[in-house]
Amino acid sequence: MDLTTELAQMAATGTFGTLHHGAHLADVVAAYGEPTNSGRLYKQRRWPHGFCFGSVQLVVCRCRLLSSIVFLAWHDDFELPGPSRGELRAVDSRVTESAMIAALTQAGCRWKVVEYERLTDQRTLEVEMADDLHVDFVFVDREGYDSPQLDDWVLHKAGIWGPSHAPCPEPDRSLPDDGYGA
Ligand SMILES: [Zn+2]
Repeated sequence: MDLTTELAQMAATGTFGTLHHGAHLADVVAAYGEPTNSGRLYKQRRWPHGFCFGSVQLVVCRCRLLSSIVFLAWHDDFELPGPSRGELRAVDSRVTESAMIAALTQAGCRWKVVEYERLTDQRTLEVEMADDLHVDFVFVDREGYDSPQLDDWVLHKAGIWGPSHAPCPEPDRSLPDDGYGA
């Protein structure tokens, strides 16, 4: 399955493999192995915290639930987790808007196109999702800053996110330390 089809399925189901909004970090680690630490989101506090598997960036809440998943399609060496635990697979990340629209249509998704007055070199396809979930696809009009403008938009990044639960429950001190910090 190519990335366009995989992302359209994510838009249709809200799930990409083991990854979905609200998935537990322990389940993700069980499926894909240890993520790379990509650091804090805020200087003063450890959580929410960033982790990644190749070109997939996760934001994890202190209670270890995934709050967002972003696919960095602009990576030259784009990699997804799997197929086996601890492995990454290289995937062609070139996804055109016309191919994405065809795949979303095929998957039965509905979406709207969001354009920006001040950012004329990018646009976003926002998929209509249930349960306050959001899936969006950000497209740009060229491969890189110095590249010529293209006829078709190309995917820059794709993401899934949802409402954050507030407040995050206090860590359960009776559970064994998972090593990711409190
Ligand atoms: Zn939480």
